[in-house]
Amino acid sequence: MISNKNKPLKILFASAEAAPFAKTGGLGDVGGSLPKALAELGHDVSVVIPYYRSVRDAGHDIRPAVLRVYHPLTGWTSRFNVHMTAFGSLKVYFIENSWYFGRRGIYGQPSWGYPDNALRFGFFSKAVTAFQESAALDPDIIHSNDWHTAIIPYYLRNARLRKRPGTLFTIHNAAYQGSCSRIFSKILGVKVEAYGKMNFMKAGILYADAVNTVSKKYAEEIKTSELGCGLETFIAKRGDSFSGILNGADYGKWDPATDNLIGTNYCSSTLEKKTECKKEILCHTGLVTGTDKPLLGFIGRLVIQKGVDKLAEALDGIIKLGAGVVILGEGDIRYAAAFKAAEARYPGRVKLFNEFNESLAHRIEAGSDIFLMPSMFEPCGLNQIYSLKYGTIPVVHATGGLDDVIIDADDEGENGNGFKFGLFTAADFLSAITRAVHKYHGDGAWRGLMKRAMACDFSWDRSAREYVEVYRSILNK
Ligand code: ADP
Repeated sequence: MISNKNKPLKILFASAEAAPFAKTGGLGDVGGSLPKALAELGHDVSVVIPYYRSVRDAGHDIRPAVLRVYHPLTGWTSRFNVHMTAFGSLKVYFIENSWYFGRRGIYGQPSWGYPDNALRFGFFSKAVTAFQESAALDPDIIHSNDWHTAIIPYYLRNARLRKRPGTLFTIHNAAYQGSCSRIFSKILGVKVEAYGKMNFMKAGILYADAVNTVSKKYAEEIKTSELGCGLETFIAKRGDSFSGILNGADYGKWDPATDNLIGTNYCSSTLEKKTECKKEILCHTGLVTGTDKPLLGFIGRLVIQKGVDKLAEALDGIIKLGAGVVILGEGDIRYAAAFKAAEARYPGRVKLFNEFNESLAHRIEAGSDIFLMPSMFEPCGLNQIYSLKYGTIPVVHATGGLDDVIIDADDEGENGNGFKFGLFTAADFLSAITRAVHKYHGDGAWRGLMKRAMACDFSWDRSAREYVEVYRSILNK
């Protein structure tokens, strides 16, 4: 399999999520934007995701492509249809099986997952493989993402294909491995176990031609027992065929100069207009924090990984600094309850939106002064990258992609673009917030910091080129 350096590649990107069709978090952002960036580099890119009920009901122009493909996997539920739509220069395929994907949620509800998720995504992975056998798309590369599609390389070993594609498996979060009962191993025909259970992610790590994750720092971190979640030795064994490639931002969607989800557009030379966005969000939230006081934003899943316990603990101190706080997220009801209690304790100073709301996420990015990301660990993180573009200064825990992207403004002066804390404690987090708030009220350095942040470029182009290098190195092996 020799790949000519300039020959466009045929890439099939398999994922559980791809925006704008299906998104619950960063995987959806990447599934929507990396394929687009690869296509912009001249490659022939297709995406395949499940045909969720929410996709079916959203009114996209999706048409049947291949009808009734069978495969001997799970008896009476083994039939699927393939639908297709053109999305810019991408072809997006949807695997339809109403038993598995005709439900309301993508994975379940915010605080619980469907008990048969292993079967649902095992079925999807098998269906993607069977689809290749029947439709002969003949991709050079099949790029699978996270545990949901991690067993595709395993299935491909025995698939009847005209041409064997190279395979890349990307770990977007090693904490979600698709670890499940051995019963699924029998049903799905995948004999890959870790710690007495079937493990989807381990199959991707062992059987893909190459493996990567979504930042350089996290690539180092998951080779350690601290953050490898039990898979560290298998990851470390991949040697040179494992790498870290930072995610990018789709500035077509996340740029305050053109964002049509925010009330007032602005750029670094019209920063005064950002205040309009702040006023809008203050009005929408009912917060009474004045425009001369910092507004702090948080957007993310309410789970322990995102450091929401540290945020809840730091809130009293944040309020003492005179700031207002707006939180958007759904997840664990314990944290939603903690933030609701803070809302009652500090009326007009703290506001929680316990929902998934894309347009509100953009408005919070635009209207806040400071963005909080106290994640315990963070494979890449996208909101710190979006925040930079919106001149909303990130305060982050120095971990994974947060550490790769943010340079501390106090430590590095003129190079700084945010604030970082090292110890994962509420006290350290609060002390970084305090430094940010002092800078905000300080001697005029804040405006320069905002401009520097807005000038940072984390567009996909560079990262997409790194992916192409990995694809070519797979094909050249
Ligand atoms: P994750 O670990 O959840 O994938 P990332 O930082 O990589 O975290 O990406 C999260 C993405 O999901 C961002 O685009 C963020 O704006 C979005 N997001 C998370 N929670 C919400 C929510 N409640 N409403 C709207 N967007 C959200």
